[in-house]
Amino acid sequence: MSPLSSCIYNKTSMQSRITPQECAQMLIAAERVVAMTGAGISTAAGVPDFRGPKGLYVTRRYDPETVFDIDAFLHDPEPFYDFTRDFLSVVDTIEPTVTHQFLARLEREGELRCVVTQNIDFLHQRAGSENVISVHGDYWTSRCLRCGLESDFQAFKDRVEAATVPHCPDCDGLIKPDVVFFGEAVKGMDQAAAEVTEADLMLVLGSSLTVYPAASLPAMARCPVIVVNRGPVGLAPGPDRFFVDEDLDEFFQTVGAAMKI
Ligand SMILES: [Zn+2]
Repeated sequence: MSPLSSCIYNKTSMQSRITPQECAQMLIAAERVVAMTGAGISTAAGVPDFRGPKGLYVTRRYDPETVFDIDAFLHDPEPFYDFTRDFLSVVDTIEPTVTHQFLARLEREGELRCVVTQNIDFLHQRAGSENVISVHGDYWTSRCLRCGLESDFQAFKDRVEAATVPHCPDCDGLIKPDVVFFGEAVKGMDQAAAEVTEADLMLVLGSSLTVYPAASLPAMARCPVIVVNRGPVGLAPGPDRFFVDEDLDEFFQTVGAAMKI
């Protein structure tokens, strides 16, 4: 048994359940809500779980150890850009889910401080969320590794479509999206930790809480934590912890209706 599997709890044995109506009431009463999201929020949109049976790594036979390794990328960026073209063609065909849109509305209504996400698919930004902390980075921004020129997603996409390996229009340096590779530090963890410790309600959506360091965030919360995820989650039960093993979109469709947003 791995050290991680020993801290996975089976929610079916838990008593701390919560209805969408109760979740709505807690959201309305709270003043500093922070949401954290993982792969489960995007699978309903059609983003393949990279490591799942239908994941890009499997169907297209990419080796994640090579594709996302920073040294391998600097030596030969072509495998990463082959993967990226496939990934972006998948992202082109999908839309943010009901839950992505619910979180964006919650932020617009002034009810949500920020979204901390482990996903690199930038569906939160596409849904309209503005305060997004992507701890594993994402494709939303990219930069030239030589002169630092920053580009938005559309400029990056245009360059990826125009060349096998995109280079900077100013200095011809190699361009890299702001995705966190193996061998690179995660982004925004200090900011995410500060938001979580100051929150008065935390939502954890579509994450099994097994990928660290992001998985350590819910344990830092000094407030009620509502976990909505299909399957077991690596967070111990507690008096202020609520677990929902239901479809995210169905759950938040009802929460949104109850909140009239
Ligand atoms: Zn440059």
